[in-house]
Amino acid sequence: MTTTVPAPAPETASADVGVVGLAVMGANLARNLARHGHAVAVHNRSAARTQTFMETHAHEGRFVPAEDPATFVASLTRPRRIVLMVQAGPGTDAVIDQLVPLLDEGDIVVDGGNAHYADTRRREEQLRGMGLHFVGAGISGGEVGALEGPSIMPGGSVESYAALGPILESIAAQVDGEPCCAHMGTDGAGHFVKMVHNGIEYADMQFIAEAYDLLRAGGVDPSAMADVFRSWNEGDLDSYLIEVTAEVLAQRDARTGGALVDSIVDAAGQKGTGSWTVQAALDLGVPVNAIAESVFARSASSHPELRAAARSALTGPDRTGIDGADPAFVEDVRRTLWSAKVVAYAQGLHLIRVASQTYGWDVDIAEVARIWRAGCIIRARLLERIRGEYAAQDLTTLLEAPSIRDGLAESQDAWRRVVGAAAASGVPAPGFSAALAYYDTLRAERLPAALVQGQRDYFGAHTYRRVDDDGTFHTAWSADRAELRI
Ligand code: NAP
Repeated sequence: MTTTVPAPAPETASADVGVVGLAVMGANLARNLARHGHAVAVHNRSAARTQTFMETHAHEGRFVPAEDPATFVASLTRPRRIVLMVQAGPGTDAVIDQLVPLLDEGDIVVDGGNAHYADTRRREEQLRGMGLHFVGAGISGGEVGALEGPSIMPGGSVESYAALGPILESIAAQVDGEPCCAHMGTDGAGHFVKMVHNGIEYADMQFIAEAYDLLRAGGVDPSAMADVFRSWNEGDLDSYLIEVTAEVLAQRDARTGGALVDSIVDAAGQKGTGSWTVQAALDLGVPVNAIAESVFARSASSHPELRAAARSALTGPDRTGIDGADPAFVEDVRRTLWSAKVVAYAQGLHLIRVASQTYGWDVDIAEVARIWRAGCIIRARLLERIRGEYAAQDLTTLLEAPSIRDGLAESQDAWRRVVGAAAASGVPAPGFSAALAYYDTLRAERLPAALVQGQRDYFGAHTYRRVDDDGTFHTAWSADRAELRI
């Protein structure tokens, strides 16, 4: 391809891999790469950050700092492997535009940021046309994961994974000697899987918050609840987020002497990947109502004016009637949490399955579950079971997997009691309720969608199909009500 800067003489290129963007994620990823024996070229738009990085971390491995993109590119062995860890969106496009004229055919540009998968598809197509590989790699685990071993979800060409995979696998989290990194599929597959990971993360967090709220309504104080979550972490619910929850609940507030959670404003923030998951699901027509409720729960919490207006206007039960000291209720909540969590995974994995079919990615869901077992925020014991179920058979939904189906059968009575208790006492449990509604929707012999089709035909002549005949039909509602075959 055309280059504006001469290609480097091979003897000057000494770095195996390059990282652009040395804020918290990029710096930690570069350090992780160096700690695993790779010579890492590092570059950042503002040179001061590169200097600070070298002053602080040069001793940790072989780094090749570069103040300008041309020097950076020239320092990399071919095919060049460049990981971008810059601000998603325009920042990523700006860096790509700078680098592309300096690259040669077969070079690989990896976007490790939180890009929208549609942007990744666009960039991949653009760079493919120039003879370059573009890899959208979802990276989960936050700044600690980036340094100590994240879960990495790369998309892109099979050819690029052959050159890049071993490097990424070397720095990923490991479970039983297996790296939490695998090729997810072409173009946007990696970023799509990462996006859904975050959607499941939203749901998981919301369910835990609802369990907390119900126990709190039942009189369990935060420090006692920390012990409940610690005990849950010994069983089927064993996960990073349960562990985090126990830590947060046990934290005392130095200012008030009470539980820190009581001093935190009850308005949850979001950076957008949960909304992206729901938007993608809407576009693809995939039901992810439990994930959607978790996104909306954050939105609802962050509308103080809405809450204030409604609080002064609305009446209802005042969170009484729940006995948090009753071990049977606590066990019901544990089972509900597990069941809802399974539904969140089922919805997210179904979304990946449909997207994979739509975009021709051929994503291996067992591999997705395998690489989520460590390094990422939703890492959980349950993922090993999910991996095994998808490896053993082709599943349309996780809910039909034998061990999952049996677990839900055992827990559904508890789940129904908890959703009922929440409704009766006025404790909002949108995630638990939505997950249960999904469960009942999928197992229903007949859905009221038949009536909806009748309504649609009545006011919009949208037609309907019959259970006992092929073809499409319309009833002449405003005339003689005879049925017409369309
Ligand atoms: P960030 O705050 O998202 O981005 C800052 C970095 O982007 C700096 O290196 C900055 O360079 C560079 N940058 C921004 N605009 C640029 C432009 N127009 N041209 C060139 N460089 C530009 O950094 P981060 O938190 O380390 O995250 C990096 C990426 O990882 C993001 O996409 C983020 O979404 C993703 N991610 C973050 C986390 C996390 O826990 N933080 C977790 C997973 C994924 P200057 O120093 O010159 O400003």
